[in-house]
Amino acid sequence: MARRRNKQPDSNATQRSDAVAVVSARGAARWQRGHPWIFRSDVREIPGAPAGAVRVLDDRRRPLGIALWSPVSEISLRLLDSDPDVTLDDAWWFQRLRQAVERRTPLAGTTNACRLVHGEGDAIPSLVCDRYDRWLVVQINSAGLEPFRSSILAALLALVQPLGVLARNDATARAREGLPRETTLEYGDVPREIEVNEHDVRYLAAPWTGQKTGAFLDQRENRLRVREVASGRALDCFAYHGSFALHMAMAAGQVVALDSSADALARARNNASLNSTENIDFVEADAFDYLRERERAGERFDTIVLDPPAFAKTRATLPTALNGYHEINLRAMRLLATGGLLFTASCSYHLNKPHFLGMLEDAARDSGRRMVLRELRGQPLDHPEVLTIPETGYLKGALLEAAD
Ligand code: SAH
Repeated sequence: MARRRNKQPDSNATQRSDAVAVVSARGAARWQRGHPWIFRSDVREIPGAPAGAVRVLDDRRRPLGIALWSPVSEISLRLLDSDPDVTLDDAWWFQRLRQAVERRTPLAGTTNACRLVHGEGDAIPSLVCDRYDRWLVVQINSAGLEPFRSSILAALLALVQPLGVLARNDATARAREGLPRETTLEYGDVPREIEVNEHDVRYLAAPWTGQKTGAFLDQRENRLRVREVASGRALDCFAYHGSFALHMAMAAGQVVALDSSADALARARNNASLNSTENIDFVEADAFDYLRERERAGERFDTIVLDPPAFAKTRATLPTALNGYHEINLRAMRLLATGGLLFTASCSYHLNKPHFLGMLEDAARDSGRRMVLRELRGQPLDHPEVLTIPETGYLKGALLEAAD
């Protein structure tokens, strides 16, 4: 149940310089290789302090920097600043958040919704902040970050002057940190639906109840790309509230938007009306069944989008997930008309780029089609993928053509 937060005392808002963690040589080496996480097994001396910021020393007690400390998490320490003497006051948070906000300046002309903070990708571990027009949705995903909630809020208010800030602190990551999962209004008011304009397509995001923070912002540029190449008869599998379908409807003759969720499709229908779009058919079905049946019926599509949910939620489920990805891609390839295009994506972090490409190669071989790789695609500017932090990159996409 959502509730308004009580004002928190500000006593935790700066680091406790007396609290220290000592880490092993292996832990220190991770930081040297550009990855901000140190796992519990590499912490030699645990800080005698509650969750928050601590100074980190190597095994010869030389200072390495300041990190967020999460006492119950497997990820014990997340590097914030390699200057061990820095003070994490409001000015520090303002400065760090300003860098993140300024990185998004080039998007101003194309959308009113974007990710302002992509956690480790913006050197603010475990913080997500998405902007929907004049409102912000934040996720504080570690115990170490929690004490800085009011500094973060103050900086965001100063930087973007939002009308309201909602905390969608309902992600599973919070449970691993020993934190409650809840949705709380942090500032002002946030409407149930917010109109997003994305490359001149309009849709309603649902910040309180929608998936993630209310919409899937990470596919924005891929949707535009698909719109540029779409034609003829198009199929958007896993359509959610219709974002790909709406873009394709501007270029294709007729579009099928398919999802297994009636709620998602109801919103997709509203979004189609919002854009005065009349060439989308909405189909409530399981994508696996639908693709198999259409293939059996010998149908053809000129453009297909596959944007499924993360089939691999953990490393252990990767083999099963690979079967699922293989299955839908194989069927989609067989359904393409000659010269037809498939945009296919995976947002499972555990399925890395080599896995993704290997799966597509296998599906292409098994489909019997000659599939041409036209483009490899990934995350947009507002979801920075840092090469030394693989966890910051999770979205993979490929534009494929059925050459014959
Ligand atoms: N393409 C969307 C995001 C897709 S999210 C966008 O760009 O905004 C994944 C969607 O897949 C969800 O809406 C979920 O309801 C749907 N889904 C999950 N499993 C499914 C299945 N087996 N068949 C059809 N849809 C499914």
